[in-house]
Amino acid sequence: MSERGLLIVLSGPSGVGKGTVRKAIFERDDNDFQYSVSMTTRQMRPGEVDGVDYHFRTKEEFEALIEAGEMLEYAEYVGNYYGTPLNYVNQTLDEGKDVFLEIEVQGAGQVKEKVPDGVFIFLTPPDLVELKARIVGRGTDSPEVIDQRMAAAREEIEMMSLYDYAVVNDQVPLAVDRIKDIIVAEHYRVDRVIGKYIKMLKEI
Ligand code: 5GP
Repeated sequence: MSERGLLIVLSGPSGVGKGTVRKAIFERDDNDFQYSVSMTTRQMRPGEVDGVDYHFRTKEEFEALIEAGEMLEYAEYVGNYYGTPLNYVNQTLDEGKDVFLEIEVQGAGQVKEKVPDGVFIFLTPPDLVELKARIVGRGTDSPEVIDQRMAAAREEIEMMSLYDYAVVNDQVPLAVDRIKDIIVAEHYRVDRVIGKYIKMLKEI
């Protein structure tokens, strides 16, 4: 049997561009990992295709799947459910293929609890990196706006601490390259390969 694949989770704060980066990753044809199509109860947007962009379901259907334990994770986001169907993830990992999820932060927290050896990548907004320069340097923001920015940044940095990697989304193609490099490198981690060597030694 082949070894189990890696579960890769891309998440980050609302509005950071997770969907754009994920789409750019899957527009490339050199990926060695599979996208897990999420399920949602939100309305389909023009141009979206059921089963490609999302599996579009009613609230009742979604709740029945939660009840039946068929979601790896799910969250309510802006009044709709979003979640990852468990079956596809398990089957694909069992086939030895890596699976890529792009989900919001509550869902990523649930995955971290269930699959702690997943690869957790946090996409950060560039202004978080330049926060101090922006706030101190510009000197034009009111104290209220500064407080709001600081509170948002603190929250984002706290969220980040659950993750393995932080990737700045300054330019989409650069963010894509960084994510792909991380996935390649993860396969060479000693804790991921040592089992194979130990098994080999036993068989000699
Ligand atoms: P949108 O409605 O713009 O497609 O997505 C809204 C948010 O839902 C985005 O932050 C996206 O990352 C998140 N999302 C998409 N699929 C899933 C999922 O399966 N689970 C969770 N928890 N969030 C998801």
